Amino acid sequence: MLARLAPSPTGYLHIGNARSFLLAWLQARAAGGEIILRIEDLDQARAVGGADREIVRDLEWLGLDWDNELTPNYYQSNRFHLYQSALDRLAAQDLLYPCYCSRKELAEAMSAPHYPAGRYPGTCRDMTESERKSRRAEKEPALRFRVDPGTVVEFNDLICGTIRSDIFEETGDFIVARADGIPSYQLAVVLDDIAMGVTHILRGNDLLDSTPRQLLLYQTLKASPPTYAHVPLILGPDGKRLAKRHGSVSIAEIREAGGRPEEVIGWLAWSCGLRTKKRGVTARELVQDFELAQLKRNETRLTSLNLFSL
Ligand code: GLU
Ligand code: ZN
Repeated sequence: MLARLAPSPTGYLHIGNARSFLLAWLQARAAGGEIILRIEDLDQARAVGGADREIVRDLEWLGLDWDNELTPNYYQSNRFHLYQSALDRLAAQDLLYPCYCSRKELAEAMSAPHYPAGRYPGTCRDMTESERKSRRAEKEPALRFRVDPGTVVEFNDLICGTIRSDIFEETGDFIVARADGIPSYQLAVVLDDIAMGVTHILRGNDLLDSTPRQLLLYQTLKASPPTYAHVPLILGPDGKRLAKRHGSVSIAEIREAGGRPEEVIGWLAWSCGLRTKKRGVTARELVQDFELAQLKRNETRLTSLNLFSL
């Protein structure tokens, strides 16, 4: 068994990311599995300088470890050759086509009443070669993966149960490379997980929607898919995803304010149902009796009061 921690260095590690990483780590360690750390810095413009080192520091402080050395090869920004060769292969199979739609055009096309949110309407799918040529003179295209009618993917998520998705209806043709040449998250994550031999993916359930597309890529690439577990998130008091405005929710701030890793781990374990009491515990101590089945199925909504009142 091989699991991975795959942080994006776009900001600081907050207690929500930390809980998902703790659970991924526990799933692997409880099964005697290995873990790799991979930095998902595909979009260098969004990457924050030094954030990778901060994340490493926070993970180590929490008592999480991994089995690879974090060499440049574990940074997505150094793996574009892999993504490009896959794009070339998919293009050679006629599975990709250029999309010239602007944000505005997409928003307009999707604004029809009852139109499925986020579904690409196929605007550029059947362009003729000469249309493509003239559009190309104006701008670089993104590349979309063709999804045919009736493309249905079904999988069993260890937390969410059986998920069935009609990708044609729900998503349509999806982007695998942006106009600026950066491969999409969907493509890169699948290629990396295949190349690195990842067998178990545990991550926040904000990524559940991406999984059917990723599984379709596994099928297309004839790779065997991993086992998925999508865990509930920690939300701010307003029910939205955690962000700076919610206060001191970053691991770094907690550490700087004198918090102890055992307190943070204890709170995280309590918040998701691994422990019945808010009591200090190390990540290591949670390994022995860890069972995914103990996890609460609902999101954790923070109130300003329950945050670290240990
Ligand atoms: N790097 C992604 C993120 O931080 C996670 C990717 C994944 O787990 O598939 O949101
Ligand atoms: Zn288009």
